[in-house]
Amino acid sequence: MSDLTVRFWGTRGSIPTPGRKTKKYGGNTTCIEVRHEDTLLVFDAGSGIRELGMSWLNEFSGKPVDAAIVFTHLHWDHIQGFPFFSCGYMPQNSFTIWGEKRESAGVEQLLSGQMTGDYFPIELSAMQAKLKFKTVDGPFEVGKMKIRPFRLPHPGGSLGYRVEADGAVFVLATDSELDQIALNREELLSDHLAPRQYPDDLIEFMSGVNLIAIDTQYTDSVYPQRVGWGHNSIATVVDLCDQVKPDILAMCHHDPQSTDQMVSKMSDDAARRLKRLDSDTLFFAAREGLTIKAHRPKRPPSLN
Ligand SMILES: [Zn+2]
Ligand SMILES: [Zn+2]
Repeated sequence: MSDLTVRFWGTRGSIPTPGRKTKKYGGNTTCIEVRHEDTLLVFDAGSGIRELGMSWLNEFSGKPVDAAIVFTHLHWDHIQGFPFFSCGYMPQNSFTIWGEKRESAGVEQLLSGQMTGDYFPIELSAMQAKLKFKTVDGPFEVGKMKIRPFRLPHPGGSLGYRVEADGAVFVLATDSELDQIALNREELLSDHLAPRQYPDDLIEFMSGVNLIAIDTQYTDSVYPQRVGWGHNSIATVVDLCDQVKPDILAMCHHDPQSTDQMVSKMSDDAARRLKRLDSDTLFFAAREGLTIKAHRPKRPPSLN
């Protein structure tokens, strides 16, 4: 039995936010590495993928790297690091790039769109690694990891992914505003703390999970001004957590306006609410550099 190991390289939403006030949780946008045995998978190529590439250069020191890069969607904060992914420029490496076909174009065209003359000095064709593009149109496998997509409510659409291997389950649900698909959506607009009634397929997708990493961008006081922007509030995530009971939940896609202090406060607030609900879930805010194994913790893991 091998572990499913998840490492956060970028946990910020919307735009990179470097600086003293975001030092603890990090300022890089979404990039999450998942390993199972010697299979490498990367979700999204936000600015965090630059550091990941540097780390792989060091780890593999010239040996070929073969990995899958899977996109949740192609909003800029999820692709902006791709031109700075150094492993992509090395001919010995191979990457299979998965994403949904959008109405306007497929993943290859959309990725190359940000690497044209008006936006960037180097074109996608300068990447000498072997790049194979594949369309996500249902479940697929990467090594022994079985991956199932789920459509999340987000402007333009976004895919959540459920990854299963050797009995361990990880769900990534970044960029989502779950209240939009709650069956009692109208009620939630006037009473944000009312219990949510979610569709059965969402509950099924999120159930029996060891680790969920989920968009928790807004506090409950900010959310009412951001309805329809595509991101969850604390109340939504706490309620989901209470319903699907993951072993561990990592809040991510932190708002660019949120300082470390604010993110810590949000996470403490959520953990307190869960405790009141008698929840066993270990709840915390994901931070750059954190590596965590997707399985039931025998004791609270050290998050440092
Ligand atoms: Zn985003
Ligand atoms: Zn987005």
